[in-house]
Amino acid sequence: MKHYLPLALILSLSLSAFAQNQKIEKKIDSVLKLMTLDEKIGQLNQYNGGDATGPITNNASKAKEIRDGKVGAILNIKGAKETRAMQQVAMQSRMKIPLLFGLDVIHGYRVTFPIPLAEAASWDLGSIENAARVAGRETASSGVHWTFAPMVDIARDPRWGRVMEGAGEDTYLGSKIAFARVKGFQGKGLGNLDAVMACVKHFAAYGAAIAGRDYAAVDMSEHTLWEVYLPPFKAALDAGAGTFMNSFNTLNGIPATGNAYLQRDILKGKWKFNGFVVSDWGSIGEMIEHGFAKDKKQAAELAIKAGSDMDMESLSYLPNLAKLVAEKKVPVAVIDDAVRRILRKKFELGLFDDPYRFSNEARQEKELNSPENRKASLQMAEKSIVLLKNNNQVLPLSKNLKKIAVIGPLGKSEKDMQGFWSIAWENDQLVSLYQGLKNKVGDKTELLYAKGCGISDTSKAGFAEALAVAKQADVIVMAVGETLDMSGEAKSKTNIHMPGVQEDLIKAMQATGKPVVVLVMAGRPLIFNWTADNVPAIMYTWWLGSEAGNAMANVLFGDYNPAGKLPMTFPRDEGQIPLYYNYLSTGRPAKNDEETVYRSGYLDSPNSPKFAFGYGLSYTTFEYSNLKLSATQLKMDGKIEVSFTLKNTGKYDGEEVAQLYLQDKFASVVRPVKELKDFRKVFLKAGESKKITFLIDKDKLSFYNQQLKWAAEAGDFKLLIGTASNNIKLEQDFVLVE
Ligand code: BGC
Repeated sequence: MKHYLPLALILSLSLSAFAQNQKIEKKIDSVLKLMTLDEKIGQLNQYNGGDATGPITNNASKAKEIRDGKVGAILNIKGAKETRAMQQVAMQSRMKIPLLFGLDVIHGYRVTFPIPLAEAASWDLGSIENAARVAGRETASSGVHWTFAPMVDIARDPRWGRVMEGAGEDTYLGSKIAFARVKGFQGKGLGNLDAVMACVKHFAAYGAAIAGRDYAAVDMSEHTLWEVYLPPFKAALDAGAGTFMNSFNTLNGIPATGNAYLQRDILKGKWKFNGFVVSDWGSIGEMIEHGFAKDKKQAAELAIKAGSDMDMESLSYLPNLAKLVAEKKVPVAVIDDAVRRILRKKFELGLFDDPYRFSNEARQEKELNSPENRKASLQMAEKSIVLLKNNNQVLPLSKNLKKIAVIGPLGKSEKDMQGFWSIAWENDQLVSLYQGLKNKVGDKTELLYAKGCGISDTSKAGFAEALAVAKQADVIVMAVGETLDMSGEAKSKTNIHMPGVQEDLIKAMQATGKPVVVLVMAGRPLIFNWTADNVPAIMYTWWLGSEAGNAMANVLFGDYNPAGKLPMTFPRDEGQIPLYYNYLSTGRPAKNDEETVYRSGYLDSPNSPKFAFGYGLSYTTFEYSNLKLSATQLKMDGKIEVSFTLKNTGKYDGEEVAQLYLQDKFASVVRPVKELKDFRKVFLKAGESKKITFLIDKDKLSFYNQQLKWAAEAGDFKLLIGTASNNIKLEQDFVLVE
């Protein structure tokens, strides 16, 4: 980050931050001195906040545990009144240490935003930060201090259901988004009343589960760990993230939860993280099933020593840590360090000054579901849509159509638009595609509807009705994809083709000869090759949140010109997975994608994806020209300025995400065929041109070398600028010299 503040101001700001920190450390010292060992261990214990029968404080023994100082944090609680009531119980404890309230605010609190993977498709860092800002404001007004987000796991395997929760496959884009999301949640910083503390997860490498099977083992080289999987965590930390969550998986045989290398050496050592690490749900106890710990007592010992500060719901710490201290297996200093980290965040949040400061009914009333927040969700949703195909300019739709047929199992669905990891409310106010279209066209256009089939149906019984409806319409708009429970935690799949008979329904609609527009609503990249090859207009809309239908209608009618770009590769077939754009070349690359005679490829499929990383169309067209480099020789301490002209050559105003990739032609460690190293989202009026500039320096050319040192090597590079990872428009060689 560049700072343009005067040096004196920066110095005085950091001095006052330093003084503030010193004050907090002194306060922690004095609190720690007063605490018994049991009270300290209580701070490390986190409970689930309740179930269908109500909050855990309804349960006399749990309420007593809180009063006895045996609980430091609660998850899954929401609402100003509810959090206040629970905090009142904690205030009856001897030490009166406030509880910390956490919740999975993954893509919005009261107003749901598009799923994180969809937001990533916007490549719009400002909007992504703002989406998290809105979520942070809403959450904080409800008395919740802490969100278990962002998930920054790089994910190269769409079989893994949790791809929906992250920013996709790319480390550079993922790091930028990780930074933006933490900034958004935490706003001007912990302690402000509209800031919610972020929890970066899952540390680490959870996204690389073998075969995309959730929770499965991760076996990974150090090189890949450092180069591909760790940078988004570091970016989130640089943005000031208050906490980290560890992970269910083993990494090279060691559970992340018991992994001292990850948590102590890297996170708290090398990276100097001063916040705390919470375990994932039950993950300390799960080290028994892993075959790493004999029982919960040993699990507690291994986890706390490895740097897991807080036990989420495995109940390993509370009953065992005091014994472990008595047996001298765990030094008190280790406990003190974990408690200090947790208290530090409670102090920074201002909870010791006023434990109820976030639980504010009036603020909550004003903040939740405000028109302004819904507008932010609508705008984010529009930006998240990716136009995959638009042959013959079927889109945008004319506003003078007489009849539109909405066909498909998701046409009137509201709940599925919210997507997995959304928070349930009594009065959801979600907008289906059908409703969104209705809001848009009013009485001018007649809307017809037929479901056609259920998402996973194997029966085509509903096709006849759908055909009868479709035949009356000028245009058929299809809503197909996944229901909200088909991608998410523990939602791994071996088959990621469009479920059920939905593609047959699409075929039937296409056979009517009417213009067909297919909207795919899903949490992960799906495979739908027939549709991709035969249907003229396709939009990938993911799960777009509260305003889904309105956003889709705006894009369908051209009131918003789509500009999303895929943050993940879409394969042709599951057999290609893992498939990602920044792979390492073999010594026998398949020529023209298909030539496989003693070449690296498949007998039965090209290597290339169906839709590439970075791909996405607009209603307008863009031309890239006039590439200039300020030099073709870069010195180690120098910079090259790259410039080119981007022109909107179509008839619509629109945005383009210009992408800069670099290729290191040869190096001491084989480098990817290309790597995203910068991008710019640019708005251009129809006919308008702009000069776009990027800077290339040594850091953009650096990588982890054989000694795992981040360094640049002199040599030959290629600069590639394009509209997608597989659609490069401008390129130029240059050299890096000593
Ligand atoms: C998930 C976490 C989540 C936690 C609390 C776990 O199952 O892996 O991402 O934050 O539950 O709900």
